[in-house]
Amino acid sequence: MGAALTVAGASRSFGGVYAVRDVDLTVEPGELRAVIGPNGAGKSTLFALIGGQLAPDAGTVELDGRRIDRLPAHRRGLGVVFQAARIFTGMTALENVMVGAHGTTRAGFVTAALRLPPFRAEERQIEARARECLARTGISEWAGRPAETLPLGQQRALQLARALCGQPRLLLLDEPASGLRAGERERLAALLGELRREGLTMLLVEHDVGFVMRLADRVTVLDLGRVIAQGRPEQVRADSAVIDAYLGE
Ligand code: ADP
Ligand code: MG
Repeated sequence: MGAALTVAGASRSFGGVYAVRDVDLTVEPGELRAVIGPNGAGKSTLFALIGGQLAPDAGTVELDGRRIDRLPAHRRGLGVVFQAARIFTGMTALENVMVGAHGTTRAGFVTAALRLPPFRAEERQIEARARECLARTGISEWAGRPAETLPLGQQRALQLARALCGQPRLLLLDEPASGLRAGERERLAALLGELRREGLTMLLVEHDVGFVMRLADRVTVLDLGRVIAQGRPEQVRADSAVIDAYLGE
C-alpha cells in the first residue's frame, strides 16, 4: 500500500523569507505523525499548505496518491483542527458538527434547500451521527448551546467532533493541546491514541515536545522552515540538532 500523505519539495515564503523550505514528508496509512519545532519553525505554514488554506510556491501534496494541492480546502478529504478555534457562530454545537457531516451525504444542495423528503430522512441520520461525534469528544452536554459560548477546551473538542464527523482520510491538528488544562490534555491524548488504534491517519503539529512523544509513531522536526530530523520519538529525542533547536529558543 502506498503512502497516505506525500509532501514533496514544498516551499512557501512571505516577503522573500522562507517559512517552509523544500520540505519532504511521507506519512504512512494509520500512522500518527507529529511535526514539532520551536515557534516560527514553519509548522502552521506547512499545516496550511497541506490543508489548503495557503498555496505553495513550489512542491506537491498527495493524499492516497492523488494530487490535492490545487483543490480547495473543503474538497481535500481532510479533517482539520486549527489552533485558534474556528467554529460557526450563531449555531449550536450540534449544528456545527452537522455541517461537518453534510459533506459525506448524497443529498444535493437543491434537495437540502427545498427540504424534500430524502433530505429530511438524511437530516435525521446526520443528527444522530453528529451526536455520536459530540459524545466521542466528550461534549454531549453542550450540544444545544451556541458554539461561541463554549469554553476553549470545549471549542477545541467541537472542532475535533466536526472534523471526525466528516470521515476524513487524514486528520490534521495544529497544536490541539495548547491552552488546555491538564485533565483536558489527558483526555485529548487518550482520544488521539484511540483514533490511532482504529487506524485513522493523523498529522499532529505541536510545539510541546512532551505531549507528542508518547503518542506519535514518528516525529518530524522543523526548524527555520526545514526538516532537521525525522524518526521514532526516542531517536529524535536523542538528536543533538533537535536539542540545539529547542535550546536556542
Ligand atoms: P510555527 O507554526 O512553527 O510557529 P509559522 O508557520 O506560523 O511557524 O511561521 C513561520 C514563519 O513564517 C515565521 O517567521 C512567521 O513570522 C512567518 N509567517 C507565517 N505566516 C505568515 C504570514 N501570513 N505573513 C508573513 N509571515 C508569516
Ligand atoms: Mg503555529
